[in-house]
Amino acid sequence: MWSSVGTVPAEYKFSRNEHQSVIKARTDDEKDHILETLCEKKSLLLQTCTPTGSIRCETLLLKHPASEDELKLFHSAAYIDVLKSLESFDLNLDEHVEYGLGYDCPVLDNLHQLAECVAGGTLSAAKLLVSRKCKTAINWFGGWHHARRDSASGFCYINDIAIGIQFMSTTFERILYIDLDVHHGMDIFNAFENSNKILTLSFHKHEVGFFSNSGNLDEAGIGKGKNYSLNVPYQGGISDETPKKM
Ligand SMILES: [Zn+2]
Repeated sequence: MWSSVGTVPAEYKFSRNEHQSVIKARTDDEKDHILETLCEKKSLLLQTCTPTGSIRCETLLLKHPASEDELKLFHSAAYIDVLKSLESFDLNLDEHVEYGLGYDCPVLDNLHQLAECVAGGTLSAAKLLVSRKCKTAINWFGGWHHARRDSASGFCYINDIAIGIQFMSTTFERILYIDLDVHHGMDIFNAFENSNKILTLSFHKHEVGFFSNSGNLDEAGIGKGKNYSLNVPYQGGISDETPKKM
């Protein structure tokens, strides 16, 4: 049963001024400014929805950055240590390239704080669900599914989804993860391909040379996770109607 947003703990609520300031940041063309604002405030937007999908709602401003232990629910200690050590915008350090930092994942100022914020938003949503404080929760700034256990990848520095799933898996018997990004959700797929508790379902473009060159129909999980990883590859040029036919 839907729990009203009134049951959400007070510390998740936000003031009108805070709301306006974050909304302004989200519509600003200056990415650096958005990141800076988010990092400074250690906060993220989250909305709760009714079971029918309409936004109920209140927008909640989250002020709970993920802890180091929480980041390590998915990521390696070595990678988290590298994120913590970054203090410049230097794009060319070899040791950073080893961890995927460069090219499409440049080193940004306050990157570790950004990672804490992104993961903290999704974890806060997960905690609200686990504690039955609400039925549906969305971290609008989450979904960084390309980040890998040991490195950044595909514009993603922290895999808040894998962290959130790991956290929720200690409470929920079964979890369904649905991925609608144009790219295969490869790193979520890899993380849980052994599990028969977490069903991953990815819809993605699959053509030669298109990132990530994975996600064929016949990739369906391994071991006890066989058939618990489902892929729906498609070619470019599909319309909004195509998924209905599929
Ligand atoms: Zn993508």
